[in-house]
Amino acid sequence: MSLIYLDNQASTPVDPRVMEAMASLWTESFGNPHSSEHFAGWAAMKAVERAAERIALTMGAIPNEVVFTSGATEANNLALLGAALGRREDGRRRIVISPIEHKSVLEVALHLADQANWEVAYAPVNSIGRVDLDGLERLMDSQTLLVSIGAVNGEIGTVQPIAEIGELAHKAGALMHSDATQAACSGPLSVIYDHCDLISLSAHKCYGPKGIGSLIVKAPVRERISPVMFGGGQQGGLRPGTIPAPLAVGFGESLVLAQTNLTGERDKISDLRERLASKLSETCDGFSVVGPKGLRHPGNLNARFEGVEAKSILAGLQPRVAASTGSACASGVEEPSHVLTAIGMSWQEASECIRFSVGRFNTQGQIDEAVELISKAVSRFRAVEAL
Ligand code: PMP
Repeated sequence: MSLIYLDNQASTPVDPRVMEAMASLWTESFGNPHSSEHFAGWAAMKAVERAAERIALTMGAIPNEVVFTSGATEANNLALLGAALGRREDGRRRIVISPIEHKSVLEVALHLADQANWEVAYAPVNSIGRVDLDGLERLMDSQTLLVSIGAVNGEIGTVQPIAEIGELAHKAGALMHSDATQAACSGPLSVIYDHCDLISLSAHKCYGPKGIGSLIVKAPVRERISPVMFGGGQQGGLRPGTIPAPLAVGFGESLVLAQTNLTGERDKISDLRERLASKLSETCDGFSVVGPKGLRHPGNLNARFEGVEAKSILAGLQPRVAASTGSACASGVEEPSHVLTAIGMSWQEASECIRFSVGRFNTQGQIDEAVELISKAVSRFRAVEAL
């Protein structure tokens, strides 16, 4: 009995082609890429540079704009803190985000507000999580330093109008950052690159290894971003520390694979997602889809099973089906997802939602089997509740 993995927005398996691309970097070209005095170092640095070139090429960036980080959490921290600490004479101290950002944006903004007196404004979102452009525009002023809006939501799959948001930010003289972690397998990164100054990415959301990501820092704004860690001066001092060459190579391969096969893969995955949604709606009473009906992350299905506790269903599905609630557990207090409450759901409603995320290696057979297991778990829950 194998696991049916429907949690690809939490993390993806590493694609065998990515494994192959990384293999020689672990045992053959294992030198420190920053060792500049011997061939082993040069070989590793060459591999890193090639990876940066390939990542840059997926969106039309220049390789120097690729700043490797440990993942998107670090990239988001570097974007917000780096912009706030950066050299400026304009005195701007306001950051605009949305309430459905990933915690690695939300918490950094809160930290700036609590510890350094920054002003944080929240752009309104509608019931499918889309940013209201008029509402956003009203928040923009001459004090706004940075706008940070995620390109694709990790929990409900909403795709934001990043081009329009970027234009509004730039019109107000602000920097535009987008957390594009969930966008790599969802849409062309070139569109995001064209309208943003800073872009966060993570390899393990697009079939690459865990532990690496990037903040793309566009050349014209580089001088405005301060490092937030200090050390040996690697990556132009913006993000010191040894670049993990195998991971960088794997990241490059994974992003190229995701972006070059985007359309075909998107169709295949969204067909499987639609199959999952329609079969669940046939077999489970009280089923409804949360989030956008049209444009959304191809693999994302956030679903509500009315009257059924999502956590109980997920527990009942172990060890056969992996999916998640998207809720955070902070200091032992269980809270429903901040994304679901921000789009207007009550705590009760939010606690009845499960995020399924279909990925590259799922099959039709797995979807059908998952539907059977899920509908049985839902019926079992309802039968116990009725006693
Ligand atoms: N942003 C988004 C939208 C995410 O989905 C995630 C991962 N859950 C992150 C940031 C954090 O990424 P990482 O695991 O690479 O730190």
